[in-house]
Amino acid sequence: MTHEFEVIHQFFKPLSHSKQLCASLDMGIGDDGAVLSCRPDSQLVVVTDTLIEGIHFPYGTDAYDIAWKALAVNLSDLAAMGAAPGFFSLALTLPKSLLSAKNSQAWLKSFSQGLADLAELYDMALVGGDTTHAEHLSITITAQGWVEIGQAITRGHAQPAEDIYVSGLIGEGGLGLKIVQAQTDVVADCNEHPAVIKLNRPHPRVALGLALKGVASSAIDVSDGLLADLSHILEASEVGAVIETTAIPVSAAMQQYLQKTEDWMFPFRCGDDYELCFTAPSDKANQIAQLAESLGLSLTQIGKIHAEAGKLTLLKSGHEIKVQSTLGFEHF
Ligand SMILES: [Mg+2]
Repeated sequence: MTHEFEVIHQFFKPLSHSKQLCASLDMGIGDDGAVLSCRPDSQLVVVTDTLIEGIHFPYGTDAYDIAWKALAVNLSDLAAMGAAPGFFSLALTLPKSLLSAKNSQAWLKSFSQGLADLAELYDMALVGGDTTHAEHLSITITAQGWVEIGQAITRGHAQPAEDIYVSGLIGEGGLGLKIVQAQTDVVADCNEHPAVIKLNRPHPRVALGLALKGVASSAIDVSDGLLADLSHILEASEVGAVIETTAIPVSAAMQQYLQKTEDWMFPFRCGDDYELCFTAPSDKANQIAQLAESLGLSLTQIGKIHAEAGKLTLLKSGHEIKVQSTLGFEHF
């Protein structure tokens, strides 16, 4: 069995540096707790997410991808709040299959590399954590980000007559999961499929979240399914919405899937997109179009907010459609 202190020293200590850390005062890994400097002009946004093997990612997922995703989902929450990434901590529970030193060395090398590569993109230091062994692989990351005082984007300020937008493509994570689940030995490597890449290595919309401060009235990241996540905005803002389903941006592969299965609600229900859904007043439309252009990211208007609290109406080419449930992926 690999010793905890050796694991930390070999695989995680190298991640404990960033330009953001104030070298003379801040302390990351190596003591009972991290000691970090706060910024006088900012508020700290704290998010946490747990990924469990077999629930949040399929068994057999590459260690690099698991680590990438575990940090990416936290960054996605920071993005939804308009926060700039700061630091993170990691609680890693390794399963019994990784008890042998040989297995765990290779796995931890790949895992720590996935974490390091994404953390480096956002200059985030790993400042602490814990490692344990149990039945199942589980990763909990807590991340902290910075936002100027009073500028955090929340779910609670959508107003009637505002536009509703989504970034990127909707349903790709869910499609990726379908492809992975359908994979057999005779199928060519499905890991190259864009939807599977998106499932395994989502790119959190951090730049978009930062740019939406002062533009979006509310925002949420699409992690549990577009309709379920939009419902959280409606609930918190005490408003309703009308969505034009034909406006939802989906990939050509998703269109093919929908033609074949006629499971039209699939892109609205499936999770793991890590796009942002946000609301904004109509007079921000030009600004949002320019933002899309500068970020090289599609921002699509999919509907409007109205005053009738809690009422979510779905249209197909202008005609109302009935759905059994708007609920997306539920973790329990
Ligand atoms: Mg979220």
